[in-house]
Amino acid sequence: MKISDFIRPFRPVDTAPPQTLLRFIGWCLGGTWRVLSVAGIASAAAGALEVATALMLGWVIDAATGSDPGNFWRDQAPLVTLFVVFFIVLRPLVFASNAATNSVIVQPNIGPQVQSRLLRWVMGHSVRYFDEDFAGRITQKQMQVASAVTEFTSEFINTICFAFASLIGSILMLFAIDWRIAVALSVWFGVYIYLIRWFMPRVRVRAKARANARAVVTGQVVDTITNIKTVKLFAHADYEDRVALLAMGDYREKSVDFGLLSAWFRFALMTLAGVLPVLLTGGAVWLWSKGQASPGDITAAGAMSLRIAQMTGWVSFTLMGMYAQVGEIEDGMHTLTPPHELVDAPGATILPAVRGEVRFDDVSFAYGRKQGGINHVTLHIPAGQRVGVVGASGAGKSTLVSLLLRLYDTESGAVTVDGQDVRGVTQSSLRRQIGMVTQDTAMFNRAASDNIRYGRPDATDAQVIEAAQRAEAHDFILHLQDARGRTGYDAYLGERGVKLSGGQRQRIALARTILKDAPILVLDEATSALDSEVEAAIQDTLAIAMQGKTVLAIAHRLSTIARMDRIIVMDQGTIVEDGTHDSLLASGGVYARYWNRQSGGFIGLEEAAE
Ligand code: ADP
Repeated sequence: MKISDFIRPFRPVDTAPPQTLLRFIGWCLGGTWRVLSVAGIASAAAGALEVATALMLGWVIDAATGSDPGNFWRDQAPLVTLFVVFFIVLRPLVFASNAATNSVIVQPNIGPQVQSRLLRWVMGHSVRYFDEDFAGRITQKQMQVASAVTEFTSEFINTICFAFASLIGSILMLFAIDWRIAVALSVWFGVYIYLIRWFMPRVRVRAKARANARAVVTGQVVDTITNIKTVKLFAHADYEDRVALLAMGDYREKSVDFGLLSAWFRFALMTLAGVLPVLLTGGAVWLWSKGQASPGDITAAGAMSLRIAQMTGWVSFTLMGMYAQVGEIEDGMHTLTPPHELVDAPGATILPAVRGEVRFDDVSFAYGRKQGGINHVTLHIPAGQRVGVVGASGAGKSTLVSLLLRLYDTESGAVTVDGQDVRGVTQSSLRRQIGMVTQDTAMFNRAASDNIRYGRPDATDAQVIEAAQRAEAHDFILHLQDARGRTGYDAYLGERGVKLSGGQRQRIALARTILKDAPILVLDEATSALDSEVEAAIQDTLAIAMQGKTVLAIAHRLSTIARMDRIIVMDQGTIVEDGTHDSLLASGGVYARYWNRQSGGFIGLEEAAE
């Protein structure tokens, strides 16, 4: 086993992240305590060794002043040997192993461990969570927490354990010289602690404000860049620039606040550090003048005071950094760790392969608002039936589909598949039974073949190609080439250089779904971006893909609707008409009105809605 493997960062944890700081840090570090304790003890040993150097120096001085110069080497051979071994062997060994532990075991493992735990947790959030936040902000907070926890841990070990051991060691050693000097150091230490306690909470508040402001900048910039086409189209670069500058200005202000406080902190510390050599060396000299201390004692106390004074600076700055990290951890924790809104019920079962009977029983859902969504919808789709859903924009069609997929939980009523409430089965087993092609399926920035294989990870290359052929995607995929020169199925889809049209993306999404071959098929304007020629070619594939499956197809293309067994018409969140194409036409209602206004291969939703 390599020593870097003392921590296994990717072991899964099955508890939810706690919402209070200390317990959250505990959750992040879970499973590493033993290794971290050993590292902490090693660091404390190094800290104690540091004080021993001062003591050694004192011994040498006393030995020198107390012996006859001619006999020094002979009389003091043991001391000289100890001195040499201490500085040349022991000290480097302890310090080096300490540094190695930190840089090989602690640092490289803690970051990935925290990040992987957070990513797993964040991926479990419901779609609503992601609707309400910037992707960039969520990502940035994950990185922020991971790096802050890593730094915090490593600094706790390297600085706090080290310094604490040095200080305690010094106080004990000074007791050996004279209790009064030891007490003086203890008092000084008390003042130091008081100073830290006064400054730190203030530093923490300002660090948090700064971290927040920085996250706003990132979110803003990511939002602008994500929508860069819209920005350009509306020629609103100025506006975006202004908004970004506003956010950056705030970040700058918060950084200045933070900087000011840290400057004052430094001033106070340097003053306090300056007092120490005066106190300890002065005290030792005073004792010496009264014959109660040796020159060696003066040297030891002096060296110790200088060492501690130096340490005061870096310990405080590390502490300040740690407080800033605590602020960042807290800030990220609030964004990332709220409990999951949509969880598998305790005892949720795995939905087995279904026949595909779908039922909405008096279902209402309005995204937690008063209106919108769908309202008291009851719908029964027998297994194998193909249902077309039509209706004006905002009628509730996508909401209906989202509820079937359990992207949200109904506010009242139930959705069942083969008689099983979707809330009673695991989300992943439910979604395995449903294939979906949407109007605008985003592609991963991965190879074309990987994007298709996403539908069934164990599919062979031949199966991937066959699915692509059936979705009329094979030919254009062969001609793909990305910016790095990868071609065909190996070409990356999201990279610059490969420009997929909306229709091409839909065909890849269709291939993916064909490969998945789930018993329930949801098409949300799945062919809207295809031109008529490709669409005609794909119709046969769609027909085959739909065979024997329950289909819920949101469409306003005549050719798609015409092949449906049944059509439901939605308006303002309710089903207003339900029947076959012929019966709906005959009844002369909303659908008949749409149909009669058809144009260019689409039923006239927009015109009829006016
Ligand atoms: P359609 O798919 O028929 O265009 P939707 O199901 O998308 O209609 O929307 C139905 C209603 O729900 C609309 O009034 C819309 O404003 C509202 N709605 C849709 N998505 C959300 C959302 N994420 N948050 C709040 N309201 C939403």
